[in-house]
Amino acid sequence: MRKLLPIYLCALLSIILFSCKKNNIEDTGIPEITGTITGKVVSPNNRTPIRYALVFISTGKKLYSTYTDTEGNFSLTAAAGLQQELHVQTGHGDKFRSIIQVDVIANQTTPLSDLLRLNQVGNFAYLAGSYDKIENILIDSLGYNAQSLNSNSIQNIAGIANYNALFIDCGAYNTYVNPNIDSAFSNFVSGGGSLYMSDYSMDFLTGQNALTACPAPRYYGFIDDSTVCSRRTGAVSVVPNAHVVSPELQYFLGKDSMSISYNLGTWERIQSIDNNFWQTMITDPTDNSPLLIRTNQYSNGNINAPFVGSRDSSQVTICHQMGNGSSITITVNANSVADHLAHGDSMGMCNNPNQSGWIYFTTFHNEHNGQISEDVKHILEFMILNL
Ligand SMILES: [Zn+2]
Repeated sequence: MRKLLPIYLCALLSIILFSCKKNNIEDTGIPEITGTITGKVVSPNNRTPIRYALVFISTGKKLYSTYTDTEGNFSLTAAAGLQQELHVQTGHGDKFRSIIQVDVIANQTTPLSDLLRLNQVGNFAYLAGSYDKIENILIDSLGYNAQSLNSNSIQNIAGIANYNALFIDCGAYNTYVNPNIDSAFSNFVSGGGSLYMSDYSMDFLTGQNALTACPAPRYYGFIDDSTVCSRRTGAVSVVPNAHVVSPELQYFLGKDSMSISYNLGTWERIQSIDNNFWQTMITDPTDNSPLLIRTNQYSNGNINAPFVGSRDSSQVTICHQMGNGSSITITVNANSVADHLAHGDSMGMCNNPNQSGWIYFTTFHNEHNGQISEDVKHILEFMILNL
């Protein structure tokens, strides 16, 4: 396994380090009058503070932005002005976002009068499984919604094209990978749809696990076997100091190591990984094996792949240049796109040449009895909010 971080991850790290500073105000050399808005971002049921949400005000030429902390709190300083649109989003802003009107009063700090609820704007579906119950975090804990699918729905792209993200639980009931599912998932991710896959759902990525040593071929699966190889060799155990490698996840958790408990044996241990394709987010320090990975590098090159997900033409996802060499993906009102393009932004997500969806693969997951640690719960929330 290569231990060096790939170049794009280093680039991401520098973006995050810049972005997580208090505010990014692009320097035009003109003194400006500003004010500050403070508030707290929460899930729609008011139960869960939303961490690492991007809060911003975009005023044509400038973007004023900050991130919520681990309590969901933020403090945003922006140009003074009445009735401005304050945006909050997670991920690319295409699945979760809210917009409210605020008055930014010069030289004052104005607290929001109410909690700022982060709305779901993407469509989600899940395939329930024998071991994972991610839908409990998504629906019960966060208060968002998702359709329950059965194995028939995922045999064809038409059955899933309405969704922005699919959650495939470990041990999905009576569903076995086959070429139809491969084709559907391949077009889904190439069309911009995101996948959450836990543990035994690795079958849907690289193919049915032959229980043989890597790199023996896996059968079916839409991801090339050479990108990752896992085996069901994980023991019932606790990884006491799992290393959180991802800067984004470190920010979200407020720490860089945590304990992960595996309640069931024979979980999928990753034996080898292509670091040019996958981004490793958490590792087991004893052997450096990845425990949580993601990629947005998959594309089948099918230019006729159907667009997937919900479509709201009043909102457009763009790559905004921060002015310090870094960039962030934001979703903005269509009528402000021209201003953004004029200061050097580009259409679509940053650092995603094929505009593909994310694929997250996690070796750990929610349990049917709900017995998971707060840290694991927060990581599952991160994956949901950043698909
Ligand atoms: Zn911009």
